[in-house]
Amino acid sequence: MYFRAMQKAVFLDRDGVLNRDRVNYVYRLADFEILPGVPQALQALKAAGYRLIVVTNQSGIAKGLYTHQEVALCYEYLQQQCGGQIDAHYYAPYHPEYDSASLSRKPDSLMIEKGLARFGVKPAQCWLVGDSERDLVAAKKCHLRTIYIPEGSARFVPPAPESHPGADFMAAHLPQAVEIILAQDRPLAKPGQNL
Ligand SMILES: [Mg+2]
Repeated sequence: MYFRAMQKAVFLDRDGVLNRDRVNYVYRLADFEILPGVPQALQALKAAGYRLIVVTNQSGIAKGLYTHQEVALCYEYLQQQCGGQIDAHYYAPYHPEYDSASLSRKPDSLMIEKGLARFGVKPAQCWLVGDSERDLVAAKKCHLRTIYIPEGSARFVPPAPESHPGADFMAAHLPQAVEIILAQDRPLAKPGQNL
């Protein structure tokens, strides 16, 4: 049934997953480089019935490095380049050493919980794709399946992939993560049935 098919979502970290990460933060449009194959990968997920929800820490706002408006402009550009396929965009502007602690900031999970509630999706039907340990920790607080892209991050030393308990799968980039999601969620054929 259609409405059942829509009850699933992929939560996407932004920097290092959708766009190339940079050591000194990404907030200028000129630095916002969408990674190869990302628009097509998002399209494949949408075609398979997934909601697409961006969940991104943007503590550069708390640090005074950039503004809410700059984050919004980057998102607008991302949507333009990806055919408007993203359903929701949550970002956490806080940092405990600069303004306040926040349950939105990963590794806490409030952004994910907002997405689950907004679209009525069940955690068991959801995935998160991220490039840092705190992405995986946040996802596991909500019992999502995870795909870890260890080479995505420019700002963090990736934990050893094979030893990371929060990573259900590993991928080199988002297109490979999408292949994993689609293969894992493909319905199993019953005997004598061709899917
Ligand atoms: Mg990241």
